[in-house]
Amino acid sequence: MNIVVQKYGGTSVGTTEKIKRVADKIIQKKNDGYAVVVVVSAMGKATDHLIAMAKEVSKNPDSREMDMLLTTGEQVSIALLAMALIDKGYPAVSYTGHQLRITTSSAHQHARIIDIDPARVDRALREDKIVVVAGFQGVTEEQAYTTLGRGGSDTSAVALAAKLKASCEIYTDVEGIYTMDPRKLKNARKLQSISYEEMMEMASLGAGVMHYRAVELAGNYSLPLYVASTFADTQGTMIEGASKLMEQTVITGMASSLDDVQITVRHLPADASTLYRLFGELAQEEINVDMISQMITDAGEMHVSCTIPKETKELAQRIMTRWQVENPQIRWELNLDIAKVSVVGLGMRTHSGIAARVFKAMADNDIEIRMVTTSEIRISWVVDARHEDKVVLLIGQAFGLTT
Ligand code: ADP
Ligand code: ASP
Ligand code: MG
Repeated sequence: MNIVVQKYGGTSVGTTEKIKRVADKIIQKKNDGYAVVVVVSAMGKATDHLIAMAKEVSKNPDSREMDMLLTTGEQVSIALLAMALIDKGYPAVSYTGHQLRITTSSAHQHARIIDIDPARVDRALREDKIVVVAGFQGVTEEQAYTTLGRGGSDTSAVALAAKLKASCEIYTDVEGIYTMDPRKLKNARKLQSISYEEMMEMASLGAGVMHYRAVELAGNYSLPLYVASTFADTQGTMIEGASKLMEQTVITGMASSLDDVQITVRHLPADASTLYRLFGELAQEEINVDMISQMITDAGEMHVSCTIPKETKELAQRIMTRWQVENPQIRWELNLDIAKVSVVGLGMRTHSGIAARVFKAMADNDIEIRMVTTSEIRISWVVDARHEDKVVLLIGQAFGLTT
C-alpha cells in the first residue's frame, strides 16, 4: 500500500467552501492510487478564538482545561472534511488524537508525541477509507487531552507519516518555503529545496511556516517533507537531507522575529558566580535565554545583556527587582522594541566573511546592532524594532534572497 499523509493548515480549511475544495484535492490523490491519511488544523482562526474565550473567563486559564478547549477546534474540521468526502462518494472516517492513541508527554500546550497506535488507521485504510486525523492534539497516559504547541499540526502529520512509513505533504497558504516570509519580503524567492538543519534554524528564528518539532522529527527519520500550496498547482519545496540539495548558495534564507525582549543589567560584581546565579535563576523560572553578551568595565564591574521570549518578561522583571533589592548598586532595563534578524545557510560552514557583510550593510545605513550571536550555520543580530522592514530588505538584496 502506497500511503501518503497530507496536512492542510488552518487557512486551507478556513471556510466550508474551502473544505469542499480540499476534499476534491484529496480525492485526486486517492484516484492516483494512494492510500490517503489527512491531518487537518482547526478552521481559520478558530484556535485564536478559543484562546480569547478562555482569557475572558480566567486571567490564567487552567492548563488541562485549556487543552480540553483547544482540541475542539480540530474536532470540528475533521468531522466536516470527512462529511464532505463521504458526500462526494468517497468513504472516509475521522479520528481524534485520543482515538488514535497519540500518546504525548503531559506538558499541556507544548506536549511532545511519544507514540501513535497505527492499528485503527491501518484498518480503515485496508477498508479503502480516507482517514482524517485531528492535528495538534494527543492524550497523556492518564487520558488527559494535550496540544503540541501553536502550529503543531505539522508535527502530528510528520509523526503519523513516520509511524505509517508514508510520504508526507504539507499544504498551506503559500507556494512553498521562501528565502524569507513573503509577507515580510515581497520579492522573496521560492526554494526548490532546503535542508532539515536550515529549516529548523529558520523555524526557531521566526519562520512560522513550519513547526520546529515537525522538521526535527522528519530529520530524525530522514523523511522528506514536500511543502506546497493547497489551492495553486505550482511546484513546492522539498525539505530533505543536505546531500540531496539542488541549490548551493551560502545563505539559503533569513527570518526575523519581534517575539523577544532584551534585558540589560549593569554594575554587577565581575565574577563568574554572579553570571551563574543570574542565569540559574532565569533557568529555574524556565525562561529561555537566547543571545547573551557580557562586558567587564575598566572599573571592574560587569554589564550583562540577554534576550528572552516576550511572554516571559514579567517573570524576568520579578527576578531583577529582587536582585536590585539585594544589590542596590545594580541598574537594569528591559527593551521591548527589538527585532531579531537572522541569516541561515549551510554554506557558512565553508565561507567566511558573512558577518562582515551583514555589519557593512548595517553600517552603511546607520543601523545600530545591539547584540549578535552566531552558530555554525546562522548569524542573528538585534536591531531596534522600527528598523525591521528596512533590515529585511537590505539583507534580502545583499545576499540575493530576492527574485
Ligand atoms: P498553516 O495554517 O497552513 O499551518 P501557517 O500560517 O502556519 O500556515 O504558515 C504559513 C505562513 O508562514 C505563510 O502565510 C507565511 O506568511 C509564513 N512564513 C514565514 N516564513 C516563511 C517562509 N520562509 N516561507 C514561506 N512562508 C513563510
Ligand atoms: N490549530 C492549531 C494552531 O492554530 C494547530 C495548527 O494550526 O497547526 O496553532
Ligand atoms: Mg502552521
